[in-house]
Amino acid sequence: MQQVTENVFTTTKLRGCNPSYVVTSAGVVVVDTPQLPSKAVRMREEAESRGPIRYVINTEHHVDLIFGNYFFRGAGTVVHHQGVYENFMVPTADLDPFDYAAEAVPTDDPDGAALFPARDEYYANPNKGELVFNSDLDLRVGGRTFHLIHTPGHTPGQVAVYVPSERVVFTGDTVFSECQTWLMTSDVNQWVAALDIVRDLDVDFVVPGHGPVTTKKYLPTQRAVLLEWVSAVANAVALGWSREETISRVNFAARYPVDIGQGYMMDHIQTLNAASLWDKLTAAGDRT
Ligand SMILES: [Zn+2]
Repeated sequence: MQQVTENVFTTTKLRGCNPSYVVTSAGVVVVDTPQLPSKAVRMREEAESRGPIRYVINTEHHVDLIFGNYFFRGAGTVVHHQGVYENFMVPTADLDPFDYAAEAVPTDDPDGAALFPARDEYYANPNKGELVFNSDLDLRVGGRTFHLIHTPGHTPGQVAVYVPSERVVFTGDTVFSECQTWLMTSDVNQWVAALDIVRDLDVDFVVPGHGPVTTKKYLPTQRAVLLEWVSAVANAVALGWSREETISRVNFAARYPVDIGQGYMMDHIQTLNAASLWDKLTAAGDRT
């Protein structure tokens, strides 16, 4: 694990999200869990070596930030927003999250195969939230405050976890640091507003959902990536391009690599980012 501050640890080198934990005098608070089974088990052991795990917080419902909760059963209270709870490992038209988690194991975690549960076994107790909230929530652990700030946009149940005593914020995928941004399930207008909320926090470090630990200086870049996507697809719609034409012509693959282990998803990301924005920007016309 990478030590970010005296008490904050993360890893940005695994396939999946950047799972993290914060050490306090009264135990450990985990923020997002490793998707890969053996990495989840190892991070739990490491966290527990520094004190009992008090809380496991999820910043959003995407599979790579929540699947590892299964390996933290019995380790502290799971906390997340109602929007995470409602979408927790629910299959959608685009993705079966359980299959997606399973598909990474042979290539990225062969040692984890023996730990990987059968589907029925998993869904019997995936370790969803016990403490579920609707707006913001403050947790106090060992004299430290963890502000869970609702920052919807990338997902509806998105939170930023702001730890003033460490001058750190964990944003989940509100920030993709120097890697491709996935925006297919997103509301980009809300997402831009979420970046403003993060910008106003008094922090030295931003722990993103993907990519290297960064600072608030990266936030305008993330905003630009979002606005470039919207602008490019808005122009496509204005020019009368079809959905297929838009997908084939609007592409930001050259801007950043995909995060670790998912390079093969590049075309999928470009296609679904363009398609989902085209659908949203033409939806009003469909309704009239
Ligand atoms: Zn995400």
